[in-house]
Amino acid sequence: MKVLTLSHTYEPLGVINWEKAISLLYAGKVKTLSEYDQEVRSPSTSFRVPSVIVFHYNKRNRVKSARFSRKNVWVRDNGKCQYCLRQVNSQNFTLDHVVPRKNGGTTVWNNVVTCCYDCNQKKGDKTPQQAGMKLYAPPNKPETLPYMQDLEYYNINAAVPESWKFWLGEQL
Ligand SMILES: [Zn+2]
Repeated sequence: MKVLTLSHTYEPLGVINWEKAISLLYAGKVKTLSEYDQEVRSPSTSFRVPSVIVFHYNKRNRVKSARFSRKNVWVRDNGKCQYCLRQVNSQNFTLDHVVPRKNGGTTVWNNVVTCCYDCNQKKGDKTPQQAGMKLYAPPNKPETLPYMQDLEYYNINAAVPESWKFWLGEQL
């Protein structure tokens, strides 16, 4: 079960695991706005899992020092193929090496972009110039990544729980 987190001003921050949400609750950092019907039971206690929580304090809404990962490349590129700018599902895209691996291109922030299957096939193991394709923007290592992108990532991949919809409003 996933939990929607809101800032102290009730703006969506992102999505976290319920275990993390429980630890934030016990630490007194958040309060619960709504719960799932399911209960979690342990020998000593049982409780309902929150579905939406809100922070009591002003939490920065960006993740510092973005780790290189398939998902974070997708997030950096706003989920768009960097050649045709088509929106690609985060479960259904490829990573393209701008400088192909056979030419010594490595798997790092500034050589890897989100790519749809069509463009990936067209480009093959050529450089963009050789393939006659235009890269939307040179890739770089982001300083930070917005939490909100987690949410967009989630929206594309899963049905949004009913209790989130009020808080997400126009973002859906
Ligand atoms: Zn494409």
